[in-house]
Amino acid sequence: MKTALVLGAGGFIGNHLVNRLKDEGYYVRGVDLKYNEYQESSADEFVIGDLTDPLVVNNIFSPDLDEVYQLAADMSGAGYIFNGENDANVMHNSATINLNVVHYATKYKAKKIFYSSSACMYPEHNQLDPNNPNCEESSAYPANPDSEYGWEKLFSERLYLAYHRNYGLNVRIARFHNIFGPLGSWNNGKEKSPAAICRKVAQTQDGGEIEIWGDGEQTRSFLYIDECLEAVRRLMESDFSGPVNIGSDEMVTINKLADIAAEVAGKTIIKKHISGPLGVRGRNSDNKLIKEKLNWSPNRPLKEGITKTYIWINQQVNSLPKA
Ligand code: NAD
Repeated sequence: MKTALVLGAGGFIGNHLVNRLKDEGYYVRGVDLKYNEYQESSADEFVIGDLTDPLVVNNIFSPDLDEVYQLAADMSGAGYIFNGENDANVMHNSATINLNVVHYATKYKAKKIFYSSSACMYPEHNQLDPNNPNCEESSAYPANPDSEYGWEKLFSERLYLAYHRNYGLNVRIARFHNIFGPLGSWNNGKEKSPAAICRKVAQTQDGGEIEIWGDGEQTRSFLYIDECLEAVRRLMESDFSGPVNIGSDEMVTINKLADIAAEVAGKTIIKKHISGPLGVRGRNSDNKLIKEKLNWSPNRPLKEGITKTYIWINQQVNSLPKA
């Protein structure tokens, strides 16, 4: 039986990853500041601990680890990352976690370690045209992320690669592009656009109004969680270190995303555009490299993932006490 350590196991992707590894027959140790809010963890061991503390990280590593998945980060939706008030914490906490993790992964000779970077590390100047953003892996430099969150991801990518070169740490690095699905934040201020829009649609009567940040013509792509985990597992099984994009290349405007959610709900909605934190104007996953290296590309349409997510969020909305 293989043993995996999942850091950030109480978070959205980490919780789903633990389930996937358990389905594959792994022994899993999960670590997080908190338990997952929406589901009891299927991990064999779950340690509540702060990964910015080197003593905690020393304790959760052991010499028997086949795979480590590093998903813990001080992060959230655009409202958290782009309002400027959390910049110092985001940089300090996430960088400290990664500095601790590479050190102890090397000390305890972890056989393989996955690091979750983000599309937010791509330069802003390549993402000004909503119809033609460039997020090819090789476009990362000269660097110019539009947030401190993106700068920390870029620093940590380089940190893992440096440990790979100097200490032989066997790293795998992916740049996630907007991963979504059930069992994620939907109403606590940390939700991202697919969950926020599904919630707004679920809470609105047929013919009602929902608020959209900006003019809604900013573009993004969204990858359903199951497809993300398939790509992560393939990357781990491969001998390719990355960094490589893990995302969908089905690019849509935020207005279109709202239309899909409304269609899934069987409702007509009116979109009211308001000011809010926006991030880059356009972003799409470039999947040439992952196709070439792992022979993988997402194969399910966005609408299918939105349908599953909407059903779950609608259930959550309906289970709230009525005002
Ligand atoms: P999440 O916020 O749901 O999960 C991150 C987890 O890390 C949380 O449960 C949090 O409690 C934990 N954590 C934070 N600080 C910690 C600490 N000091 N000690 C222990 N645990 C700590 O986020 P997610 O959506 O599951 O994302 C997982 C990873 O993927 C993150 O590194 C994120 O930056 C990256 N990523 C996610 C997306 C996405 O669309 N979800 C996109 C790009 C990159």
